[in-house]
Amino acid sequence: MTTEIGERDWEEWSETFWQALQTQGEVETKSESSIKLYAPNKQPTTITYYRKFDPKVHDHTNPFHAPVTEAKSLYQGGFPRSGKHIEMSLKGSDVTYETGDYLAVWPKNLDTHVEALGTRLGLDINQYFSIAKDSILLENFPPCFPNPITIRETFSQYCDLTLPPKRFTIQCLAPFATQKEEREKLERLADAKQTTQADYEAQFYNKDFATILNDFPSVKLTLQEALELIPSARFRYYSISSASQQFPDSVHVTMCRKSVGPPDNCKISLCATYLDQLKAGDLCPIHVTKSEFKLPPKELKLPIIMVAVGTGYAPMRGFLQQRVLEENHENMLFCGYYHKNQDFIYREEVEQLYVPTSLLLCFFQQSLKCIFPFGYGIDAWATGFQSSQDTSESPRPPDQPGSGKYKREVSISPSPHWSPNQFQGSFRVFTSYLYCLLS
Ligand SMILES: Cc1cc2nc3c(=O)[nH]c(=O)nc-3n(C[C@H](O)[C@H](O)[C@H](O)COP(=O)(O)OP(=O)(O)OC[C@H]3O[C@@H](n4cnc5c(N)ncnc54)[C@H](O)[C@@H]3O)c2cc1C
Repeated sequence: MTTEIGERDWEEWSETFWQALQTQGEVETKSESSIKLYAPNKQPTTITYYRKFDPKVHDHTNPFHAPVTEAKSLYQGGFPRSGKHIEMSLKGSDVTYETGDYLAVWPKNLDTHVEALGTRLGLDINQYFSIAKDSILLENFPPCFPNPITIRETFSQYCDLTLPPKRFTIQCLAPFATQKEEREKLERLADAKQTTQADYEAQFYNKDFATILNDFPSVKLTLQEALELIPSARFRYYSISSASQQFPDSVHVTMCRKSVGPPDNCKISLCATYLDQLKAGDLCPIHVTKSEFKLPPKELKLPIIMVAVGTGYAPMRGFLQQRVLEENHENMLFCGYYHKNQDFIYREEVEQLYVPTSLLLCFFQQSLKCIFPFGYGIDAWATGFQSSQDTSESPRPPDQPGSGKYKREVSISPSPHWSPNQFQGSFRVFTSYLYCLLS
């Protein structure tokens, strides 16, 4: 909400700013094309790069194309989300990581979106083009952006064809409509005073750039104009779900996509859709980013408590692997779920590998707030957690939607490393802390 207000403020401010400068004659809005299209089927003889980078170093300037070695579904049938466990090989690269680090994934757009945009703009997407070295357009792209490059590769890897357009972009698009009605409609939609956010979203959200243009057939754009308007692609972070000591040559990702359906016919989500389509043998552009999210030093032999819902378990999986290697067996995991048989990810691994030796596992249903319903003291809950299975009915807390009763289901797996007293003590401290945070 705060972001939306911030963005609208910025758009209103920038609109006035640019209008004022143009009135003063301070800015030139039309520029010579800085793009040179190659003849069809003609290939460039040399490729240059706008900014210097070391091709052997893989970081935010230049990703490593990691071979996917495994990609398997995380959720059981019927759960209305799609999730994948993906393993990628780091062999032969300079890419290393520590348990708890983040993997930056450089997403690619769906081929259908890339091809639709080429068709809409009347371009042969297999054609090469180059951008003049002094063009400001190059600043949209990372140093590894090759120049010349094909239109297909640019649209696919360096543009975000699904990010909802900002009002400022729509305002810039309006003059390109050759039909008066379309131009006026675009101007109206771009103006927050004339179009509510809900109406704006209904017009532009959940559409790729070609579909947005197709709604305004009289809009004509050159390749340069399209590249100036489309936001450049940015990498997305994923918690690494493997321990570096156990898997030094590979990196695991645990990804969740909020909606399911055919990739080109469901709620748009660029990187999750891209990851969801990956299969063994594909190459995925990545780099590693350091994180502060780390385990306490192993020598301290501290017990740890982890709380996770869904893919929030990703970093915990890496931590658990590392804790077992370090022979730190006092680990407690509070794991949230909606439907235990469908969305308890890595269930077999957790139950068979960790619970018997190193993990005290506690489930809670729905959201964290469900374990703190009004009318239930923390002690009562701590005591409740001591039983191995508790499925009693509880009144629905006032902040939960709906009415009547909801099922309180909590289950705990016994652990050889936690005595009931130790568990109850740690749990009380932990729940008191959480209670303070949530209330
Ligand atoms: C430090 C960190 C760690 C993370 N770890 C994980 C992890 O382990 N696992 C995991 O699954 N995720 C993780 N994430 C989240 C992940 O980085 C992505 O944000 C997430 O996968 C969504 O990215 P996306 O490109 O698929 O969606 P985007 O395309 O960026 O979209 C973001 C949201 O906007 C909506 N949206 C996008 N385009 C449109 C449109 N045209 N119209 C309407 N709505 C639209 C999408 O539906 C989505 O809800 C982590 C994030 C951070 C910052």
